[in-house]
Amino acid sequence: MPARNPLNRTLADGIRRVGFRKWYERELLSSHAHMLLALLSVVAVLASLEALGGGTASEKLMDVAFVVVCGVIALWSLRRYLYLLMHAEEMANQANCQQCKAYGLLQLEEARHRPQANWVPVCCKRCGFRWNLEDG
Ligand SMILES: [Zn+2]
Repeated sequence: MPARNPLNRTLADGIRRVGFRKWYERELLSSHAHMLLALLSVVAVLASLEALGGGTASEKLMDVAFVVVCGVIALWSLRRYLYLLMHAEEMANQANCQQCKAYGLLQLEEARHRPQANWVPVCCKRCGFRWNLEDG
């Protein structure tokens, strides 16, 4: 399983505590917060580049440091945004019950037999159909 931000719950923990739909909503909110951070970091990079034109040598050195730091933050937050968004969409694509077609009405099942560690066993709340979400 990939390293996760401690603010984002794992899929199994999220389904257990708040349900699939709330977990999905929170993953999307978190991913879009990272997108906003990426945009603000790009604006900060552009502002630092603008300030690079004037000033003393020490101020120029400070501007270069700001460009590097803001660039790293922008790349990290963009990567995190894409990961959270793609992960949430991948899980949402598996959240339809194959029997009654209900979307996101899942509850966590106890894993009696789990052939792969990244499988999250779930059960439909409407009809009781059981299947595994492949997390990762
Ligand atoms: Zn169902």
